[in-house]
Amino acid sequence: MSTATRVVELRRLLERAAHEYYVLDKPTLADAAYDTLFRELQSLEREHPALHDADSPTQRVGAAVTASPLAKYTHLVSMASLDNAFDETELVEWQDRVAKLVGSAVGEEGYCCELKIDGAAVSLTYRNGTLATGATRGNGSVGEDVTANICTIADVPRHLEGSGWPEVIEIRGEVYMTFDGFERMNTDRAKAGEDVFANPRNSAAGALRQKDPRETAKKPLRFFGYAFAVPGNAALPFRTQWALLETLESWGIPVAPHRRPCATLDDVNAWARDLESTTRATLPFAIDGGVVKVNRLALQSELGLIGGRVPRWAIARKFAPDIAETVLLDIEVQVGRTGALTPRAVLAPVDVGGATINYATLHNFDLVAEKDLRIGDTVLVKRAGEVIPQILGPVPERRTGEERVVQAPTHCPACGTAVVRDEEEVASYCPNVRCAGRRLEALAHFTSRDAMDIRGLSYQRIEQLLAAGLVDDAGDLYSLTVEQVARLERFAEKSAEQLVAAIDASRQQPLSRLLIAVGIRHVGAESAKLLARSFGTLDALEAASVDELEALHGLGHTMAEAVHAWCHNESVQRMLSKLRAAGLRIDEPRAAGSDGVFKGLKMVLTGTLPTLSRSQATELVENAGGKVTSSVSKSTDIVVAGEEAGSKLEKAQQLGVTVIDEAELLRRLAT
Ligand code: NAD
Repeated sequence: MSTATRVVELRRLLERAAHEYYVLDKPTLADAAYDTLFRELQSLEREHPALHDADSPTQRVGAAVTASPLAKYTHLVSMASLDNAFDETELVEWQDRVAKLVGSAVGEEGYCCELKIDGAAVSLTYRNGTLATGATRGNGSVGEDVTANICTIADVPRHLEGSGWPEVIEIRGEVYMTFDGFERMNTDRAKAGEDVFANPRNSAAGALRQKDPRETAKKPLRFFGYAFAVPGNAALPFRTQWALLETLESWGIPVAPHRRPCATLDDVNAWARDLESTTRATLPFAIDGGVVKVNRLALQSELGLIGGRVPRWAIARKFAPDIAETVLLDIEVQVGRTGALTPRAVLAPVDVGGATINYATLHNFDLVAEKDLRIGDTVLVKRAGEVIPQILGPVPERRTGEERVVQAPTHCPACGTAVVRDEEEVASYCPNVRCAGRRLEALAHFTSRDAMDIRGLSYQRIEQLLAAGLVDDAGDLYSLTVEQVARLERFAEKSAEQLVAAIDASRQQPLSRLLIAVGIRHVGAESAKLLARSFGTLDALEAASVDELEALHGLGHTMAEAVHAWCHNESVQRMLSKLRAAGLRIDEPRAAGSDGVFKGLKMVLTGTLPTLSRSQATELVENAGGKVTSSVSKSTDIVVAGEEAGSKLEKAQQLGVTVIDEAELLRRLAT
């Protein structure tokens, strides 16, 4: 293949990958593979200047600007990307380039080292200390206006604290997701039959670019600041990158931990080694390296940017990826409490990011087919921090022809019943309510910490209770006696007493926990709370029609039908009557929304809100414990004002009542 053809091919590959990564938030190529191709293109372009093309992915930030439903936003000063140093030699080369331009030393201020947060870059414009706009990086010059979405992120202050900020300042940083938040969100999505995101970065970028801020508000987004831009020669209260970070913190902007001022490159290397080998694994969010910056801002300006794309004064010290290759030995099927059959990958043990990995989640069989995973395949496994390892995909070039395609199971592996599959859903189910696998999982879920919180019941103990025929469903737990339990193997009198006491105490759990505990298909913790708060008692919930259920904001048709079907299922009825007879509390304590952010507040809605209807806003406020009233008085706590808010807004201003807009309402709801 000629060099020119290879260059064209590389540009095409990188362009497609950049589109999938930046625009669709769904990469199909591993970052390490992208970086290798990118570097190959860079070096070919360097060696063959005749092949230069201003449109090449190497000359750009992000992806080409495409049509987007979000409004465009032109940055005050363009947002650059970063050049990479993949090892210490490349870092020395960078230092040499810097030294050539600004003299042999970077000044006594040295370098500022920071974590390289793996999220999505944003720029937040504050005018007179108040958040005015939030925008994505886009192609560096033009991004997308995502102000309403940014306002839902609790980390981002609406007003800067302290003092000393320039009249207009763009604070730049990274919107990211913690591993915990990411896993929770993906699990919920998989349960609801929605596509799962490949990693926290793509989830964060996707959530940030949602059309509906209410969707963004549901996502666990966080923010760290690390850069700024000001118009013209605005006076600045800091002279170094380090002081900038401290100042940002004093203004109430979160700044990433583990940063360090370093006098020499040796110090930088020591910091980076520690980060890669130790600190990285302890972080609750993903990083893909560290960033080393010339500390003195005046030197940064002197050094400027290369081709408007990357600064000369900073470099990303990229780490070996937390991705490894291994062999997919088998795909096991696990039976969940609702009967959902979930595939789990059994892997040849492999060390990734300092931990040995044996298993990975696969969510559902469609995903297995979508990724074309075959038993015997060499696969790419990713692990970061505490996240459950994921399979990014197979390495098809390694196939020998011996690999085996796995089909979704036709029968439940625990009880042998034929599997059912709802055409609209991704998961397959075991419909047998008596299935041993389902019953074990159902009981484990019922007793778990976020549900009825019955301590002392491990899987093993539940299996014992089931095997001894002492329990059939959760309702039977409440008639267990100390004598019965104490007769079981490995139970002493004392532990039997403790268990029965723990079961006894759980009778007082509110309806919301009971609804979580019984595991209604599609109903997660939030929906269970919504149902409990809205209906108040189990009787009222059972009497509700599908239409009444669907009328609840936040409960879609599928969930409404699932709840209705659950209430009218024969075996559920049997279990519920046992729970009633056992004297369980089957109502929700009256202080509805008592733990919400608007607890006990009187609020008035006025004017037209940009995205929420009046009834949606009312419901959100009420679910957060607030009371919506129709007229403004001295006892009103908050007025939420939209466009063309008239006399109510005036009255609120006269009375000195707090007035907020929709964005602030959503932000508070997200806290
Ligand atoms: P980058 O992620 O390599 O580095 C620049 C970005 O780092 C900045 O824009 C900023 O968002 C971020 N950053 C985080 N912490 C920072 C800090 N403390 N200071 C300054 N910046 C900080 O660059 P990029 O242009 O966003 O993305 C390029 C990378 O994205 C590639 O190296 C590749 O790994 C990945 N990518 C992957 C695919 C794929 O298909 N997998 C496609 C395109 C890009």
